[in-house]
Amino acid sequence: MSTSVSGRSIEVGILGATGMVGQQFVRLLDGHPWFKTTWLGASERSEGRTYRDAMKWRLATPPPADVLDMKVEPCVPGNAPRILFSGMDAGAATDIEPAFAAAGHIVVSNARSFRMFADVPLVIPEVNAEHLSLIARQRRERGWSGAIVTNPNCSTVVLSLVLAPLRQFGLAKVMVTTLQAVSGAGYPGVASLDILGNVVPAISGEEEKMESETQKILGAYERESVSPHRVIVSATTTRVPVLDGHTESISVQFEQKPTLDDVRAALEGFRGRPQELRLPSAPPQPIVYFEAADRPQPRLDVERDNGMTISTGRLRPCSILGTKLVALGHNTVRGAAGAAILNAEMMVAEGMLD
Ligand code: NAP
Repeated sequence: MSTSVSGRSIEVGILGATGMVGQQFVRLLDGHPWFKTTWLGASERSEGRTYRDAMKWRLATPPPADVLDMKVEPCVPGNAPRILFSGMDAGAATDIEPAFAAAGHIVVSNARSFRMFADVPLVIPEVNAEHLSLIARQRRERGWSGAIVTNPNCSTVVLSLVLAPLRQFGLAKVMVTTLQAVSGAGYPGVASLDILGNVVPAISGEEEKMESETQKILGAYERESVSPHRVIVSATTTRVPVLDGHTESISVQFEQKPTLDDVRAALEGFRGRPQELRLPSAPPQPIVYFEAADRPQPRLDVERDNGMTISTGRLRPCSILGTKLVALGHNTVRGAAGAAILNAEMMVAEGMLD
């Protein structure tokens, strides 16, 4: 399973290939041992142009040479490969993703449009890979031969991955405040005059997503449905002048009384199915803990394990809820493109795409 699937690569396409998340897909899929990008789609603005002309590359590493002369296609079913990664605007995803799923495509999506539907898996493979089984219900109820599978909002991924190993202590209440990078708003995103030397104390819709998506991800799967976890989450989300990486200050109230050492051991010892299966994009250790009081920091820690690891630190008592810590994750990798690629790897490894 480590180098190829049945000895040949699987063709994949990218919906919204020109955007911030789309570019991360292009970068992360370059040289992927299982997947090969053969199709790129975007809006009418880009269709018919070469990828080189249609996009403005925003990443620090150069774009892979073999995609630059590919023609950007309209996002309509027709000649696209069966597996499609989606980094489209939610507005566009709402109509376009179901059209592809109905036409037999597996759409592995970053958009918020379908995450909270009862028949749509909202998955972090280390946490709730079993939710992928919702696909059977989705296909039956919607009459689709394809499917839509989603990954969480970029700040929810960080919070849910931190909380997953702590479920054993009985999660009761969580207060979280985020410091979110500008790349989370896409390109051109937040105007420089709004963000330079500043903090913007609200991100539209983000707090609600963190509060509800976390409960679904941590929820129990039984008989083709997910019962949301009872944990109550209160989120405050802010935008800060950081390029990549969402930092979160998290306070947790547990039903039991774990020591700080118990919490730290649970975070560091956490492993999931992607690690067992040695999936290509799985970090060896999903959550690392930093001893130093001034870590994690976006500039120093966000790229760890190609951006797929959550960095934590500053575990200490909270005089209100009991326990608090700081966590950091790469928003366009672990919070978007890398998350979707790991979901697709999980589906391949479990034989769900045969
Ligand atoms: P972005 O930079 O604004 O890119 C949006 C992409 O959607 C572009 O490729 C754009 O194509 C395409 N698009 C827009 N309208 C379309 C249409 N009618 N038909 C087909 N394609 C269309 O945004 P982003 O930051 O990459 O975010 C993409 C999605 O991922 C959003 O749903 C966002 O909420 C989600 N997400 C983002 C992050 C993050 O950290 N940035 C994290 C998690 C999830 P053109 O270039 O042709 O306009």
